[in-house]
Amino acid sequence: MSKAYETVIGLEVHVELATKTKIFCACSTEFGGVPNSHTCPVCTGMPGALPVLNKRVVEYAIAVGLAINGNIRKCCQFDRKNYFYPDNPQNYQISQLYLPICTDGSVEIPTDTGKKTIGIREMHMEEDAGKLLHSRSDMASIVDYNRSGVPLLEIVTRPDIRSAKEAVAFLEKLRLMLQYLGVSDCKLNEGSMRVDVNVSVRKEGADRLGTRTEMKNLNSFRAVARAIESESSRHRKLLENGQKIMFETRRWDDKRGISHPMRTKEEARDYRYFPEPDLPPILIEDAWIARIEKERPEMPEEKLERYQREFGLPKYDASILVGEKHFADLFEEATALCGKPKKVSNWIMGELICLLRENEMAADKISFSPENLAKLIDLVDAGQISGTVAKEIFAQIVTKDVDPEKYMDEKCLGMVEDEDLLREVIVSVICVHSQSVEDYKRGKKRAIGFLVGQAMKTMRGKANPKTVHRLLEEALSYEEAPRA
Ligand code: ADP
Ligand code: MG
Ligand code: ZN
Repeated sequence: MSKAYETVIGLEVHVELATKTKIFCACSTEFGGVPNSHTCPVCTGMPGALPVLNKRVVEYAIAVGLAINGNIRKCCQFDRKNYFYPDNPQNYQISQLYLPICTDGSVEIPTDTGKKTIGIREMHMEEDAGKLLHSRSDMASIVDYNRSGVPLLEIVTRPDIRSAKEAVAFLEKLRLMLQYLGVSDCKLNEGSMRVDVNVSVRKEGADRLGTRTEMKNLNSFRAVARAIESESSRHRKLLENGQKIMFETRRWDDKRGISHPMRTKEEARDYRYFPEPDLPPILIEDAWIARIEKERPEMPEEKLERYQREFGLPKYDASILVGEKHFADLFEEATALCGKPKKVSNWIMGELICLLRENEMAADKISFSPENLAKLIDLVDAGQISGTVAKEIFAQIVTKDVDPEKYMDEKCLGMVEDEDLLREVIVSVICVHSQSVEDYKRGKKRAIGFLVGQAMKTMRGKANPKTVHRLLEEALSYEEAPRA
């Protein structure tokens, strides 16, 4: 019988900060761009070039430090981490080891058994490296330094996480927090959020941690979860067979769902860290911290509460909107324009989520103007288009950002008010579906719903179903006249 084992996880999360310029020079941080076009002597490591710290990076770090309940160090400093790699032109990375800007934070996550606190050991500022591109056909590698010097925060948890599910809950909470603070877009697919996972396994109740392995740069939460599951079961099997775990860095192959050994684990002393001589220590005054705290934008929990209080939304609806910043932004902007929060919320929770799924679109790809959603809602309310047509137009708004009013006119989708025309349609529906008419007359009142549906279909949705219903009832009551 196998003994009970416990999985222990610690995460190291890198996020690229959404500053306009890099951490130590004035080059643009924009993602993509012609390779090596966002570069200068500083971020390409030219001898003699000197770094100048971007103040905004420190402000963002303070804002995050406060949000994770950490201690902001009043005097912090940068250190040099020395290593050679072609994506790192200076042969060192400017980072923080000895005096990181923030220590001893925490983040609360939801679990099946209630709330749980995950400790944050520390958070520090550092610079990103360039990007290497390997070409098999040319037998060559090329390097793009556009990313070199993009500011990063590295957030390191304590080994408090116990399952893949908790790890994902932590990452989701952290990502949402960073997005609401406006410090990072946290796009895993573009690398602006990257996760290193440390996993170990120990006998339940043991007071010492087991030997860990590390998997670097996982680029989706799904990959994080799968890597944890796979690695912890690999550890278990080894331990059950009396074998040792190697303290090493492994590469996670998400396609095949397995990890491979990459290198034995490096340690701080391997990097010959020393205080960065080209940058002075950073003094952080209380007044500065206080100002950043005061300017903090509204956070997810606050919005959740406000959406219920101010707009009367059910908690469930509010949590769906708040759980995705793009939904919350759209909701607030469209509501400000049309003043109908419940209707805006319904469009987002219903049609929008459905359309995103159908088109395999991530929420960050939402690019239509909130004004067009507000206008659409007003058109429905004014009786100018039917609900069916509104859905058709909304699909066009989501994919092509069409102006609903213009689109309605162009495609002649406006509501048909002409009752004589509607009566003609109804007569033909009654003729074709005599069975439903019979059913209705025999007292099966629900049959009228089907007939309304058929008439709406003939009208291609361009009629008011209430009017159709009324006219149908009229028509059917005529039919009921005794046949002498
Ligand atoms: P390094 O920087 O060399 O990777 P750290 O000591 O900074 O090492 O730890 C990195 C991460 O690994 C932290 O998130 C920490 O919580 C986690 N960790 C440390 N020991 C263990 C362990 N035995 N099992 C799981 N995670 C661990
Ligand atoms: Mg590490
Ligand atoms: Zn530069």
